[in-house]
Amino acid sequence: MSMQSINPATGQIIQSFPTWQSDEINTVLSQADSAQSEWAALSFTQRSDCMHNLARIFRQRNEEYANLITEEMGKLLKEARAEIEKCAIGCEHYANKAESYLSDELIASDASRSLVVYQPLGVVLCIMPWNFPFWQLVRAAAPAMMAGNTVVLKHASNVPRCALALEDAFRQAGFPENSFRTLMISSEQAQAVVADDRIAAVTLTGSSAAGRKVAAIAGQHLKKCVLELGGSDPFIVLEDADIESTAKQAFAARLQNMGQSCIAAKRFILMDVIADAFVEELRMILSQLQSGDPKHEATGIAPMAREDLRTDLHAQVERSLAAGAKLIVGGTVIGTQGAYYTPTILDYVQPGMAAFDEELFGPVAAIVRVKNAEEAVQLANRTQFGLGGSVWTSNTIRGEALARQIRAGSTFVNGIVKSDPRLPFGGIKESGYGRELSYHGIREFVNIKTVWIK
Ligand code: NAP
Repeated sequence: MSMQSINPATGQIIQSFPTWQSDEINTVLSQADSAQSEWAALSFTQRSDCMHNLARIFRQRNEEYANLITEEMGKLLKEARAEIEKCAIGCEHYANKAESYLSDELIASDASRSLVVYQPLGVVLCIMPWNFPFWQLVRAAAPAMMAGNTVVLKHASNVPRCALALEDAFRQAGFPENSFRTLMISSEQAQAVVADDRIAAVTLTGSSAAGRKVAAIAGQHLKKCVLELGGSDPFIVLEDADIESTAKQAFAARLQNMGQSCIAAKRFILMDVIADAFVEELRMILSQLQSGDPKHEATGIAPMAREDLRTDLHAQVERSLAAGAKLIVGGTVIGTQGAYYTPTILDYVQPGMAAFDEELFGPVAAIVRVKNAEEAVQLANRTQFGLGGSVWTSNTIRGEALARQIRAGSTFVNGIVKSDPRLPFGGIKESGYGRELSYHGIREFVNIKTVWIK
């Protein structure tokens, strides 16, 4: 078995890595387990020094890491640079805030002194996706490690070079030996690792199918589990929104990362009265984009991360068209080299069509037309997912009222859904459970312990 790093812009194999045998996995799990008590014994200041070093390394080596991301999963180089900068910001957030997020809480009770203390759990297994290969890991590992846990990473099989670069970055930053390790393993091997006694908890970012599988094993072994899964975020445009600027935001919300983002807007729910104008604005923006080398500044259409993902997306588009959706633009594979797909708009999408019911993880916007805001909310919530959503209106009071009715982990008014270390991030329903980021995120992988003294 091997993992292959394939450039999705060209289809060329960059490098292959053999997956580990069980003795290598065993050794590293023991090492990460042994390293944990030493790491947890350090003060917050010492742990925070390592985390600040890591932030510095991300900034110093931004160009190198960004190129690695682009070569391995295809995103535009400018987006990869922004991802690495976001990693630095995430590290700094937890370096600066972890101590206050986890400080003892004195609580009055029948004791002479009673308090809550937050203690690490042990080794946390992070199972991560390829779409933000650096950020997803940092988002999970920075809080877990600042809390005193050690981390082992099972990264997606198509980003092995990013996985190894991350391990190297932690080492360069001065984290103690074995406090952060990358496991070069398949998803089947990862399931055995979830069950291993040396693993205290697991966090998975990925598809709902993978989440179900991993949660079942974690459940069987009674281990804490956080799941950050797929989404089909609604983007509701009310009749009083500014069409031109909102269409620009819609473009960014859908096409970021070539549409391969869990919180990308996926279903554009438009009031009938503005729908034609909005679709035309969006069509004009998408039609101007040129495909090309994702490292070139002028390129607007990067490849998708893998050819099989493009094949799946194209099949979802074709099924939606067969079910009655109308093709406005796109809907085709680009060229013969690389995993390119034309940015696509499907209009008149309804429940029962793939573009409504399933997650479309690529550059395809599904347009849903509605009569009024009530119908918009009803359709926004008619999904098995519950990750994010947004409402666009010139009336922010009305926007907030509607945002509260969307059943999702976050809803933004007049802004694109994004993660921010200061705010909690996560989903409900099949988008997962638990939270990352903010103080909520760092409290997922701790023992919230009561100490009671007479
Ligand atoms: P994926 O196929 O589920 O893979 C994610 C990770 O899980 C990979 O490391 C994968 O390893 C592993 N994995 C897959 N099946 C597994 C199993 N049965 N047991 C153990 N591990 C397993 O997802 P993806 O294609 O990489 O990412 C796309 C999905 O992630 C989308 O649905 C997207 O919405 C979601 N996502 C969610 C968030 C969020 O924060 N909510 C963020 C980003 C992405 P292999 O690569 O070796 O299979």
